[in-house]
Amino acid sequence: MQKLRRHQRCPKCSTLNVIRWGVQNGHQRFRCKECGVMFTPRRPDISTANRFIWFRKWVLGKQSLASLSEESGYSERQLRRWFS
Ligand SMILES: [Zn+2]
Repeated sequence: MQKLRRHQRCPKCSTLNVIRWGVQNGHQRFRCKECGVMFTPRRPDISTANRFIWFRKWVLGKQSLASLSEESGYSERQLRRWFS
């Protein structure tokens, strides 16, 4: 059984107080209970796949965390958090 425990954050006021608000074009929509904005989060599996690419580069030892950070545009701390 897959458990979806991602907490969506409102893109406008960044509260976590959002609720599911139906599905549009196969994408889950959310609605913020604070400011009422409706939004569809970007597909999380794409960014996960991207992280994995960076992770592989790192594991293969071809690049240091610092150069990965430079190339990917993510901070070194962020990369370290993903890889740990
Ligand atoms: Zn909001």
